[in-house]
Amino acid sequence: MKYIDSHAHVNFKAFEKDWIEVQQRTVAADVGTINVGTQLETSARAIHLAEIFRGKPVWAAVGQHPIHAVRHPFEPDAFRDLAEKDGVVAIGEVGLDYFRLGADFDDPDEGGIGEHKDLEPDEIKDKQANLFEEFTTLSRDVRKPLILHMRDEAGKYDAYDDVLAILNNIGSGVGVAHCFGGDWDHAQKFLELGFYIGVTGIVTFPKSDVLAEVVKNTPLERLLIETDSPYLTPVPHRGTRNEPLYTEFVGRKVAELKGITTDEVFKKTTENALRLFGLA
Ligand SMILES: [Zn+2]
Repeated sequence: MKYIDSHAHVNFKAFEKDWIEVQQRTVAADVGTINVGTQLETSARAIHLAEIFRGKPVWAAVGQHPIHAVRHPFEPDAFRDLAEKDGVVAIGEVGLDYFRLGADFDDPDEGGIGEHKDLEPDEIKDKQANLFEEFTTLSRDVRKPLILHMRDEAGKYDAYDDVLAILNNIGSGVGVAHCFGGDWDHAQKFLELGFYIGVTGIVTFPKSDVLAEVVKNTPLERLLIETDSPYLTPVPHRGTRNEPLYTEFVGRKVAELKGITTDEVFKKTTENALRLFGLA
C-alpha cells in the first residue's frame, strides 16, 4: 500500500453521486481509506462501503460526533451491533466539540435537518461528555481504538483538556487524536497516554505554525496522515472537494517539516495505521 488516509468521509452526502468512483480510484492507486461515521446513518454507510470493497483496503469506523450529542439520542444496541461488524476497525469519531458552543447545528451533510438550536453551553457540554464516555466504554468492550474529535472555541473552552480528563478518569484507552489542532503541550499529553496524532491538510495552510511545531516534535512512529474529506482540502486544491488521494499533499508537507523523504512518511504512517487499527 502506498499510504493510508486514516480519516475520510466518502460516506458523506458530498460523495453521494460518485462515492463508488472516488473509492475505486483510491483503491486503484493502492491507497487505503478509513471512512469514519458521525452518527448511526453515516456509520452504517461507512460499513456499506467497506463491504462493497471487501478484500480491498477500505475500512470503517463507527461513532457519534459530539455535534450530534443533543439531537440524536445515543442508541447503544445499534452501535454495538455496528461496532462488532467485519471491516469496522475503530470507534469514532467521538469526543468534544466546543466550537460555537450553544448553537447546536444539525448538519444536513450528515443526515441532519440543517437547523440551529440555541441551548445553554453547559447543557451541551454535559451531553457531549456523557456521549463520549459511552463510546470509550464501547471502544474498550469491542477492543477497537478510538478516533477522537476535539475542537475548541479559542480562549473560551478547552476541549483537549476535557477529553484528557475523561480519558484519565477511565484509565485511558488507545487511538488517534484526529485532525489535531492543539499545541505541543496538549500533543505531549496525548502521546503519553499512547495516542497517535492525526494530521490533516490544515498543515498545508498558511498560519499553521502551531501544528507545524507539533508535527516536527511528534515522533514519526506516532503520526497518522488523513484528509477529513470532503473538508479541509490541502493546498494546492483548496476550494475544491477533498478526497482520499489528496492525503498525498499532507504527506509531502509532513516530510518537508521533518526534513525526510515523502516515501519515508508514507511508509511509516502506513505501518502506524496498520499497527493501531490492526489492519490486515
Ligand atoms: Zn471527520
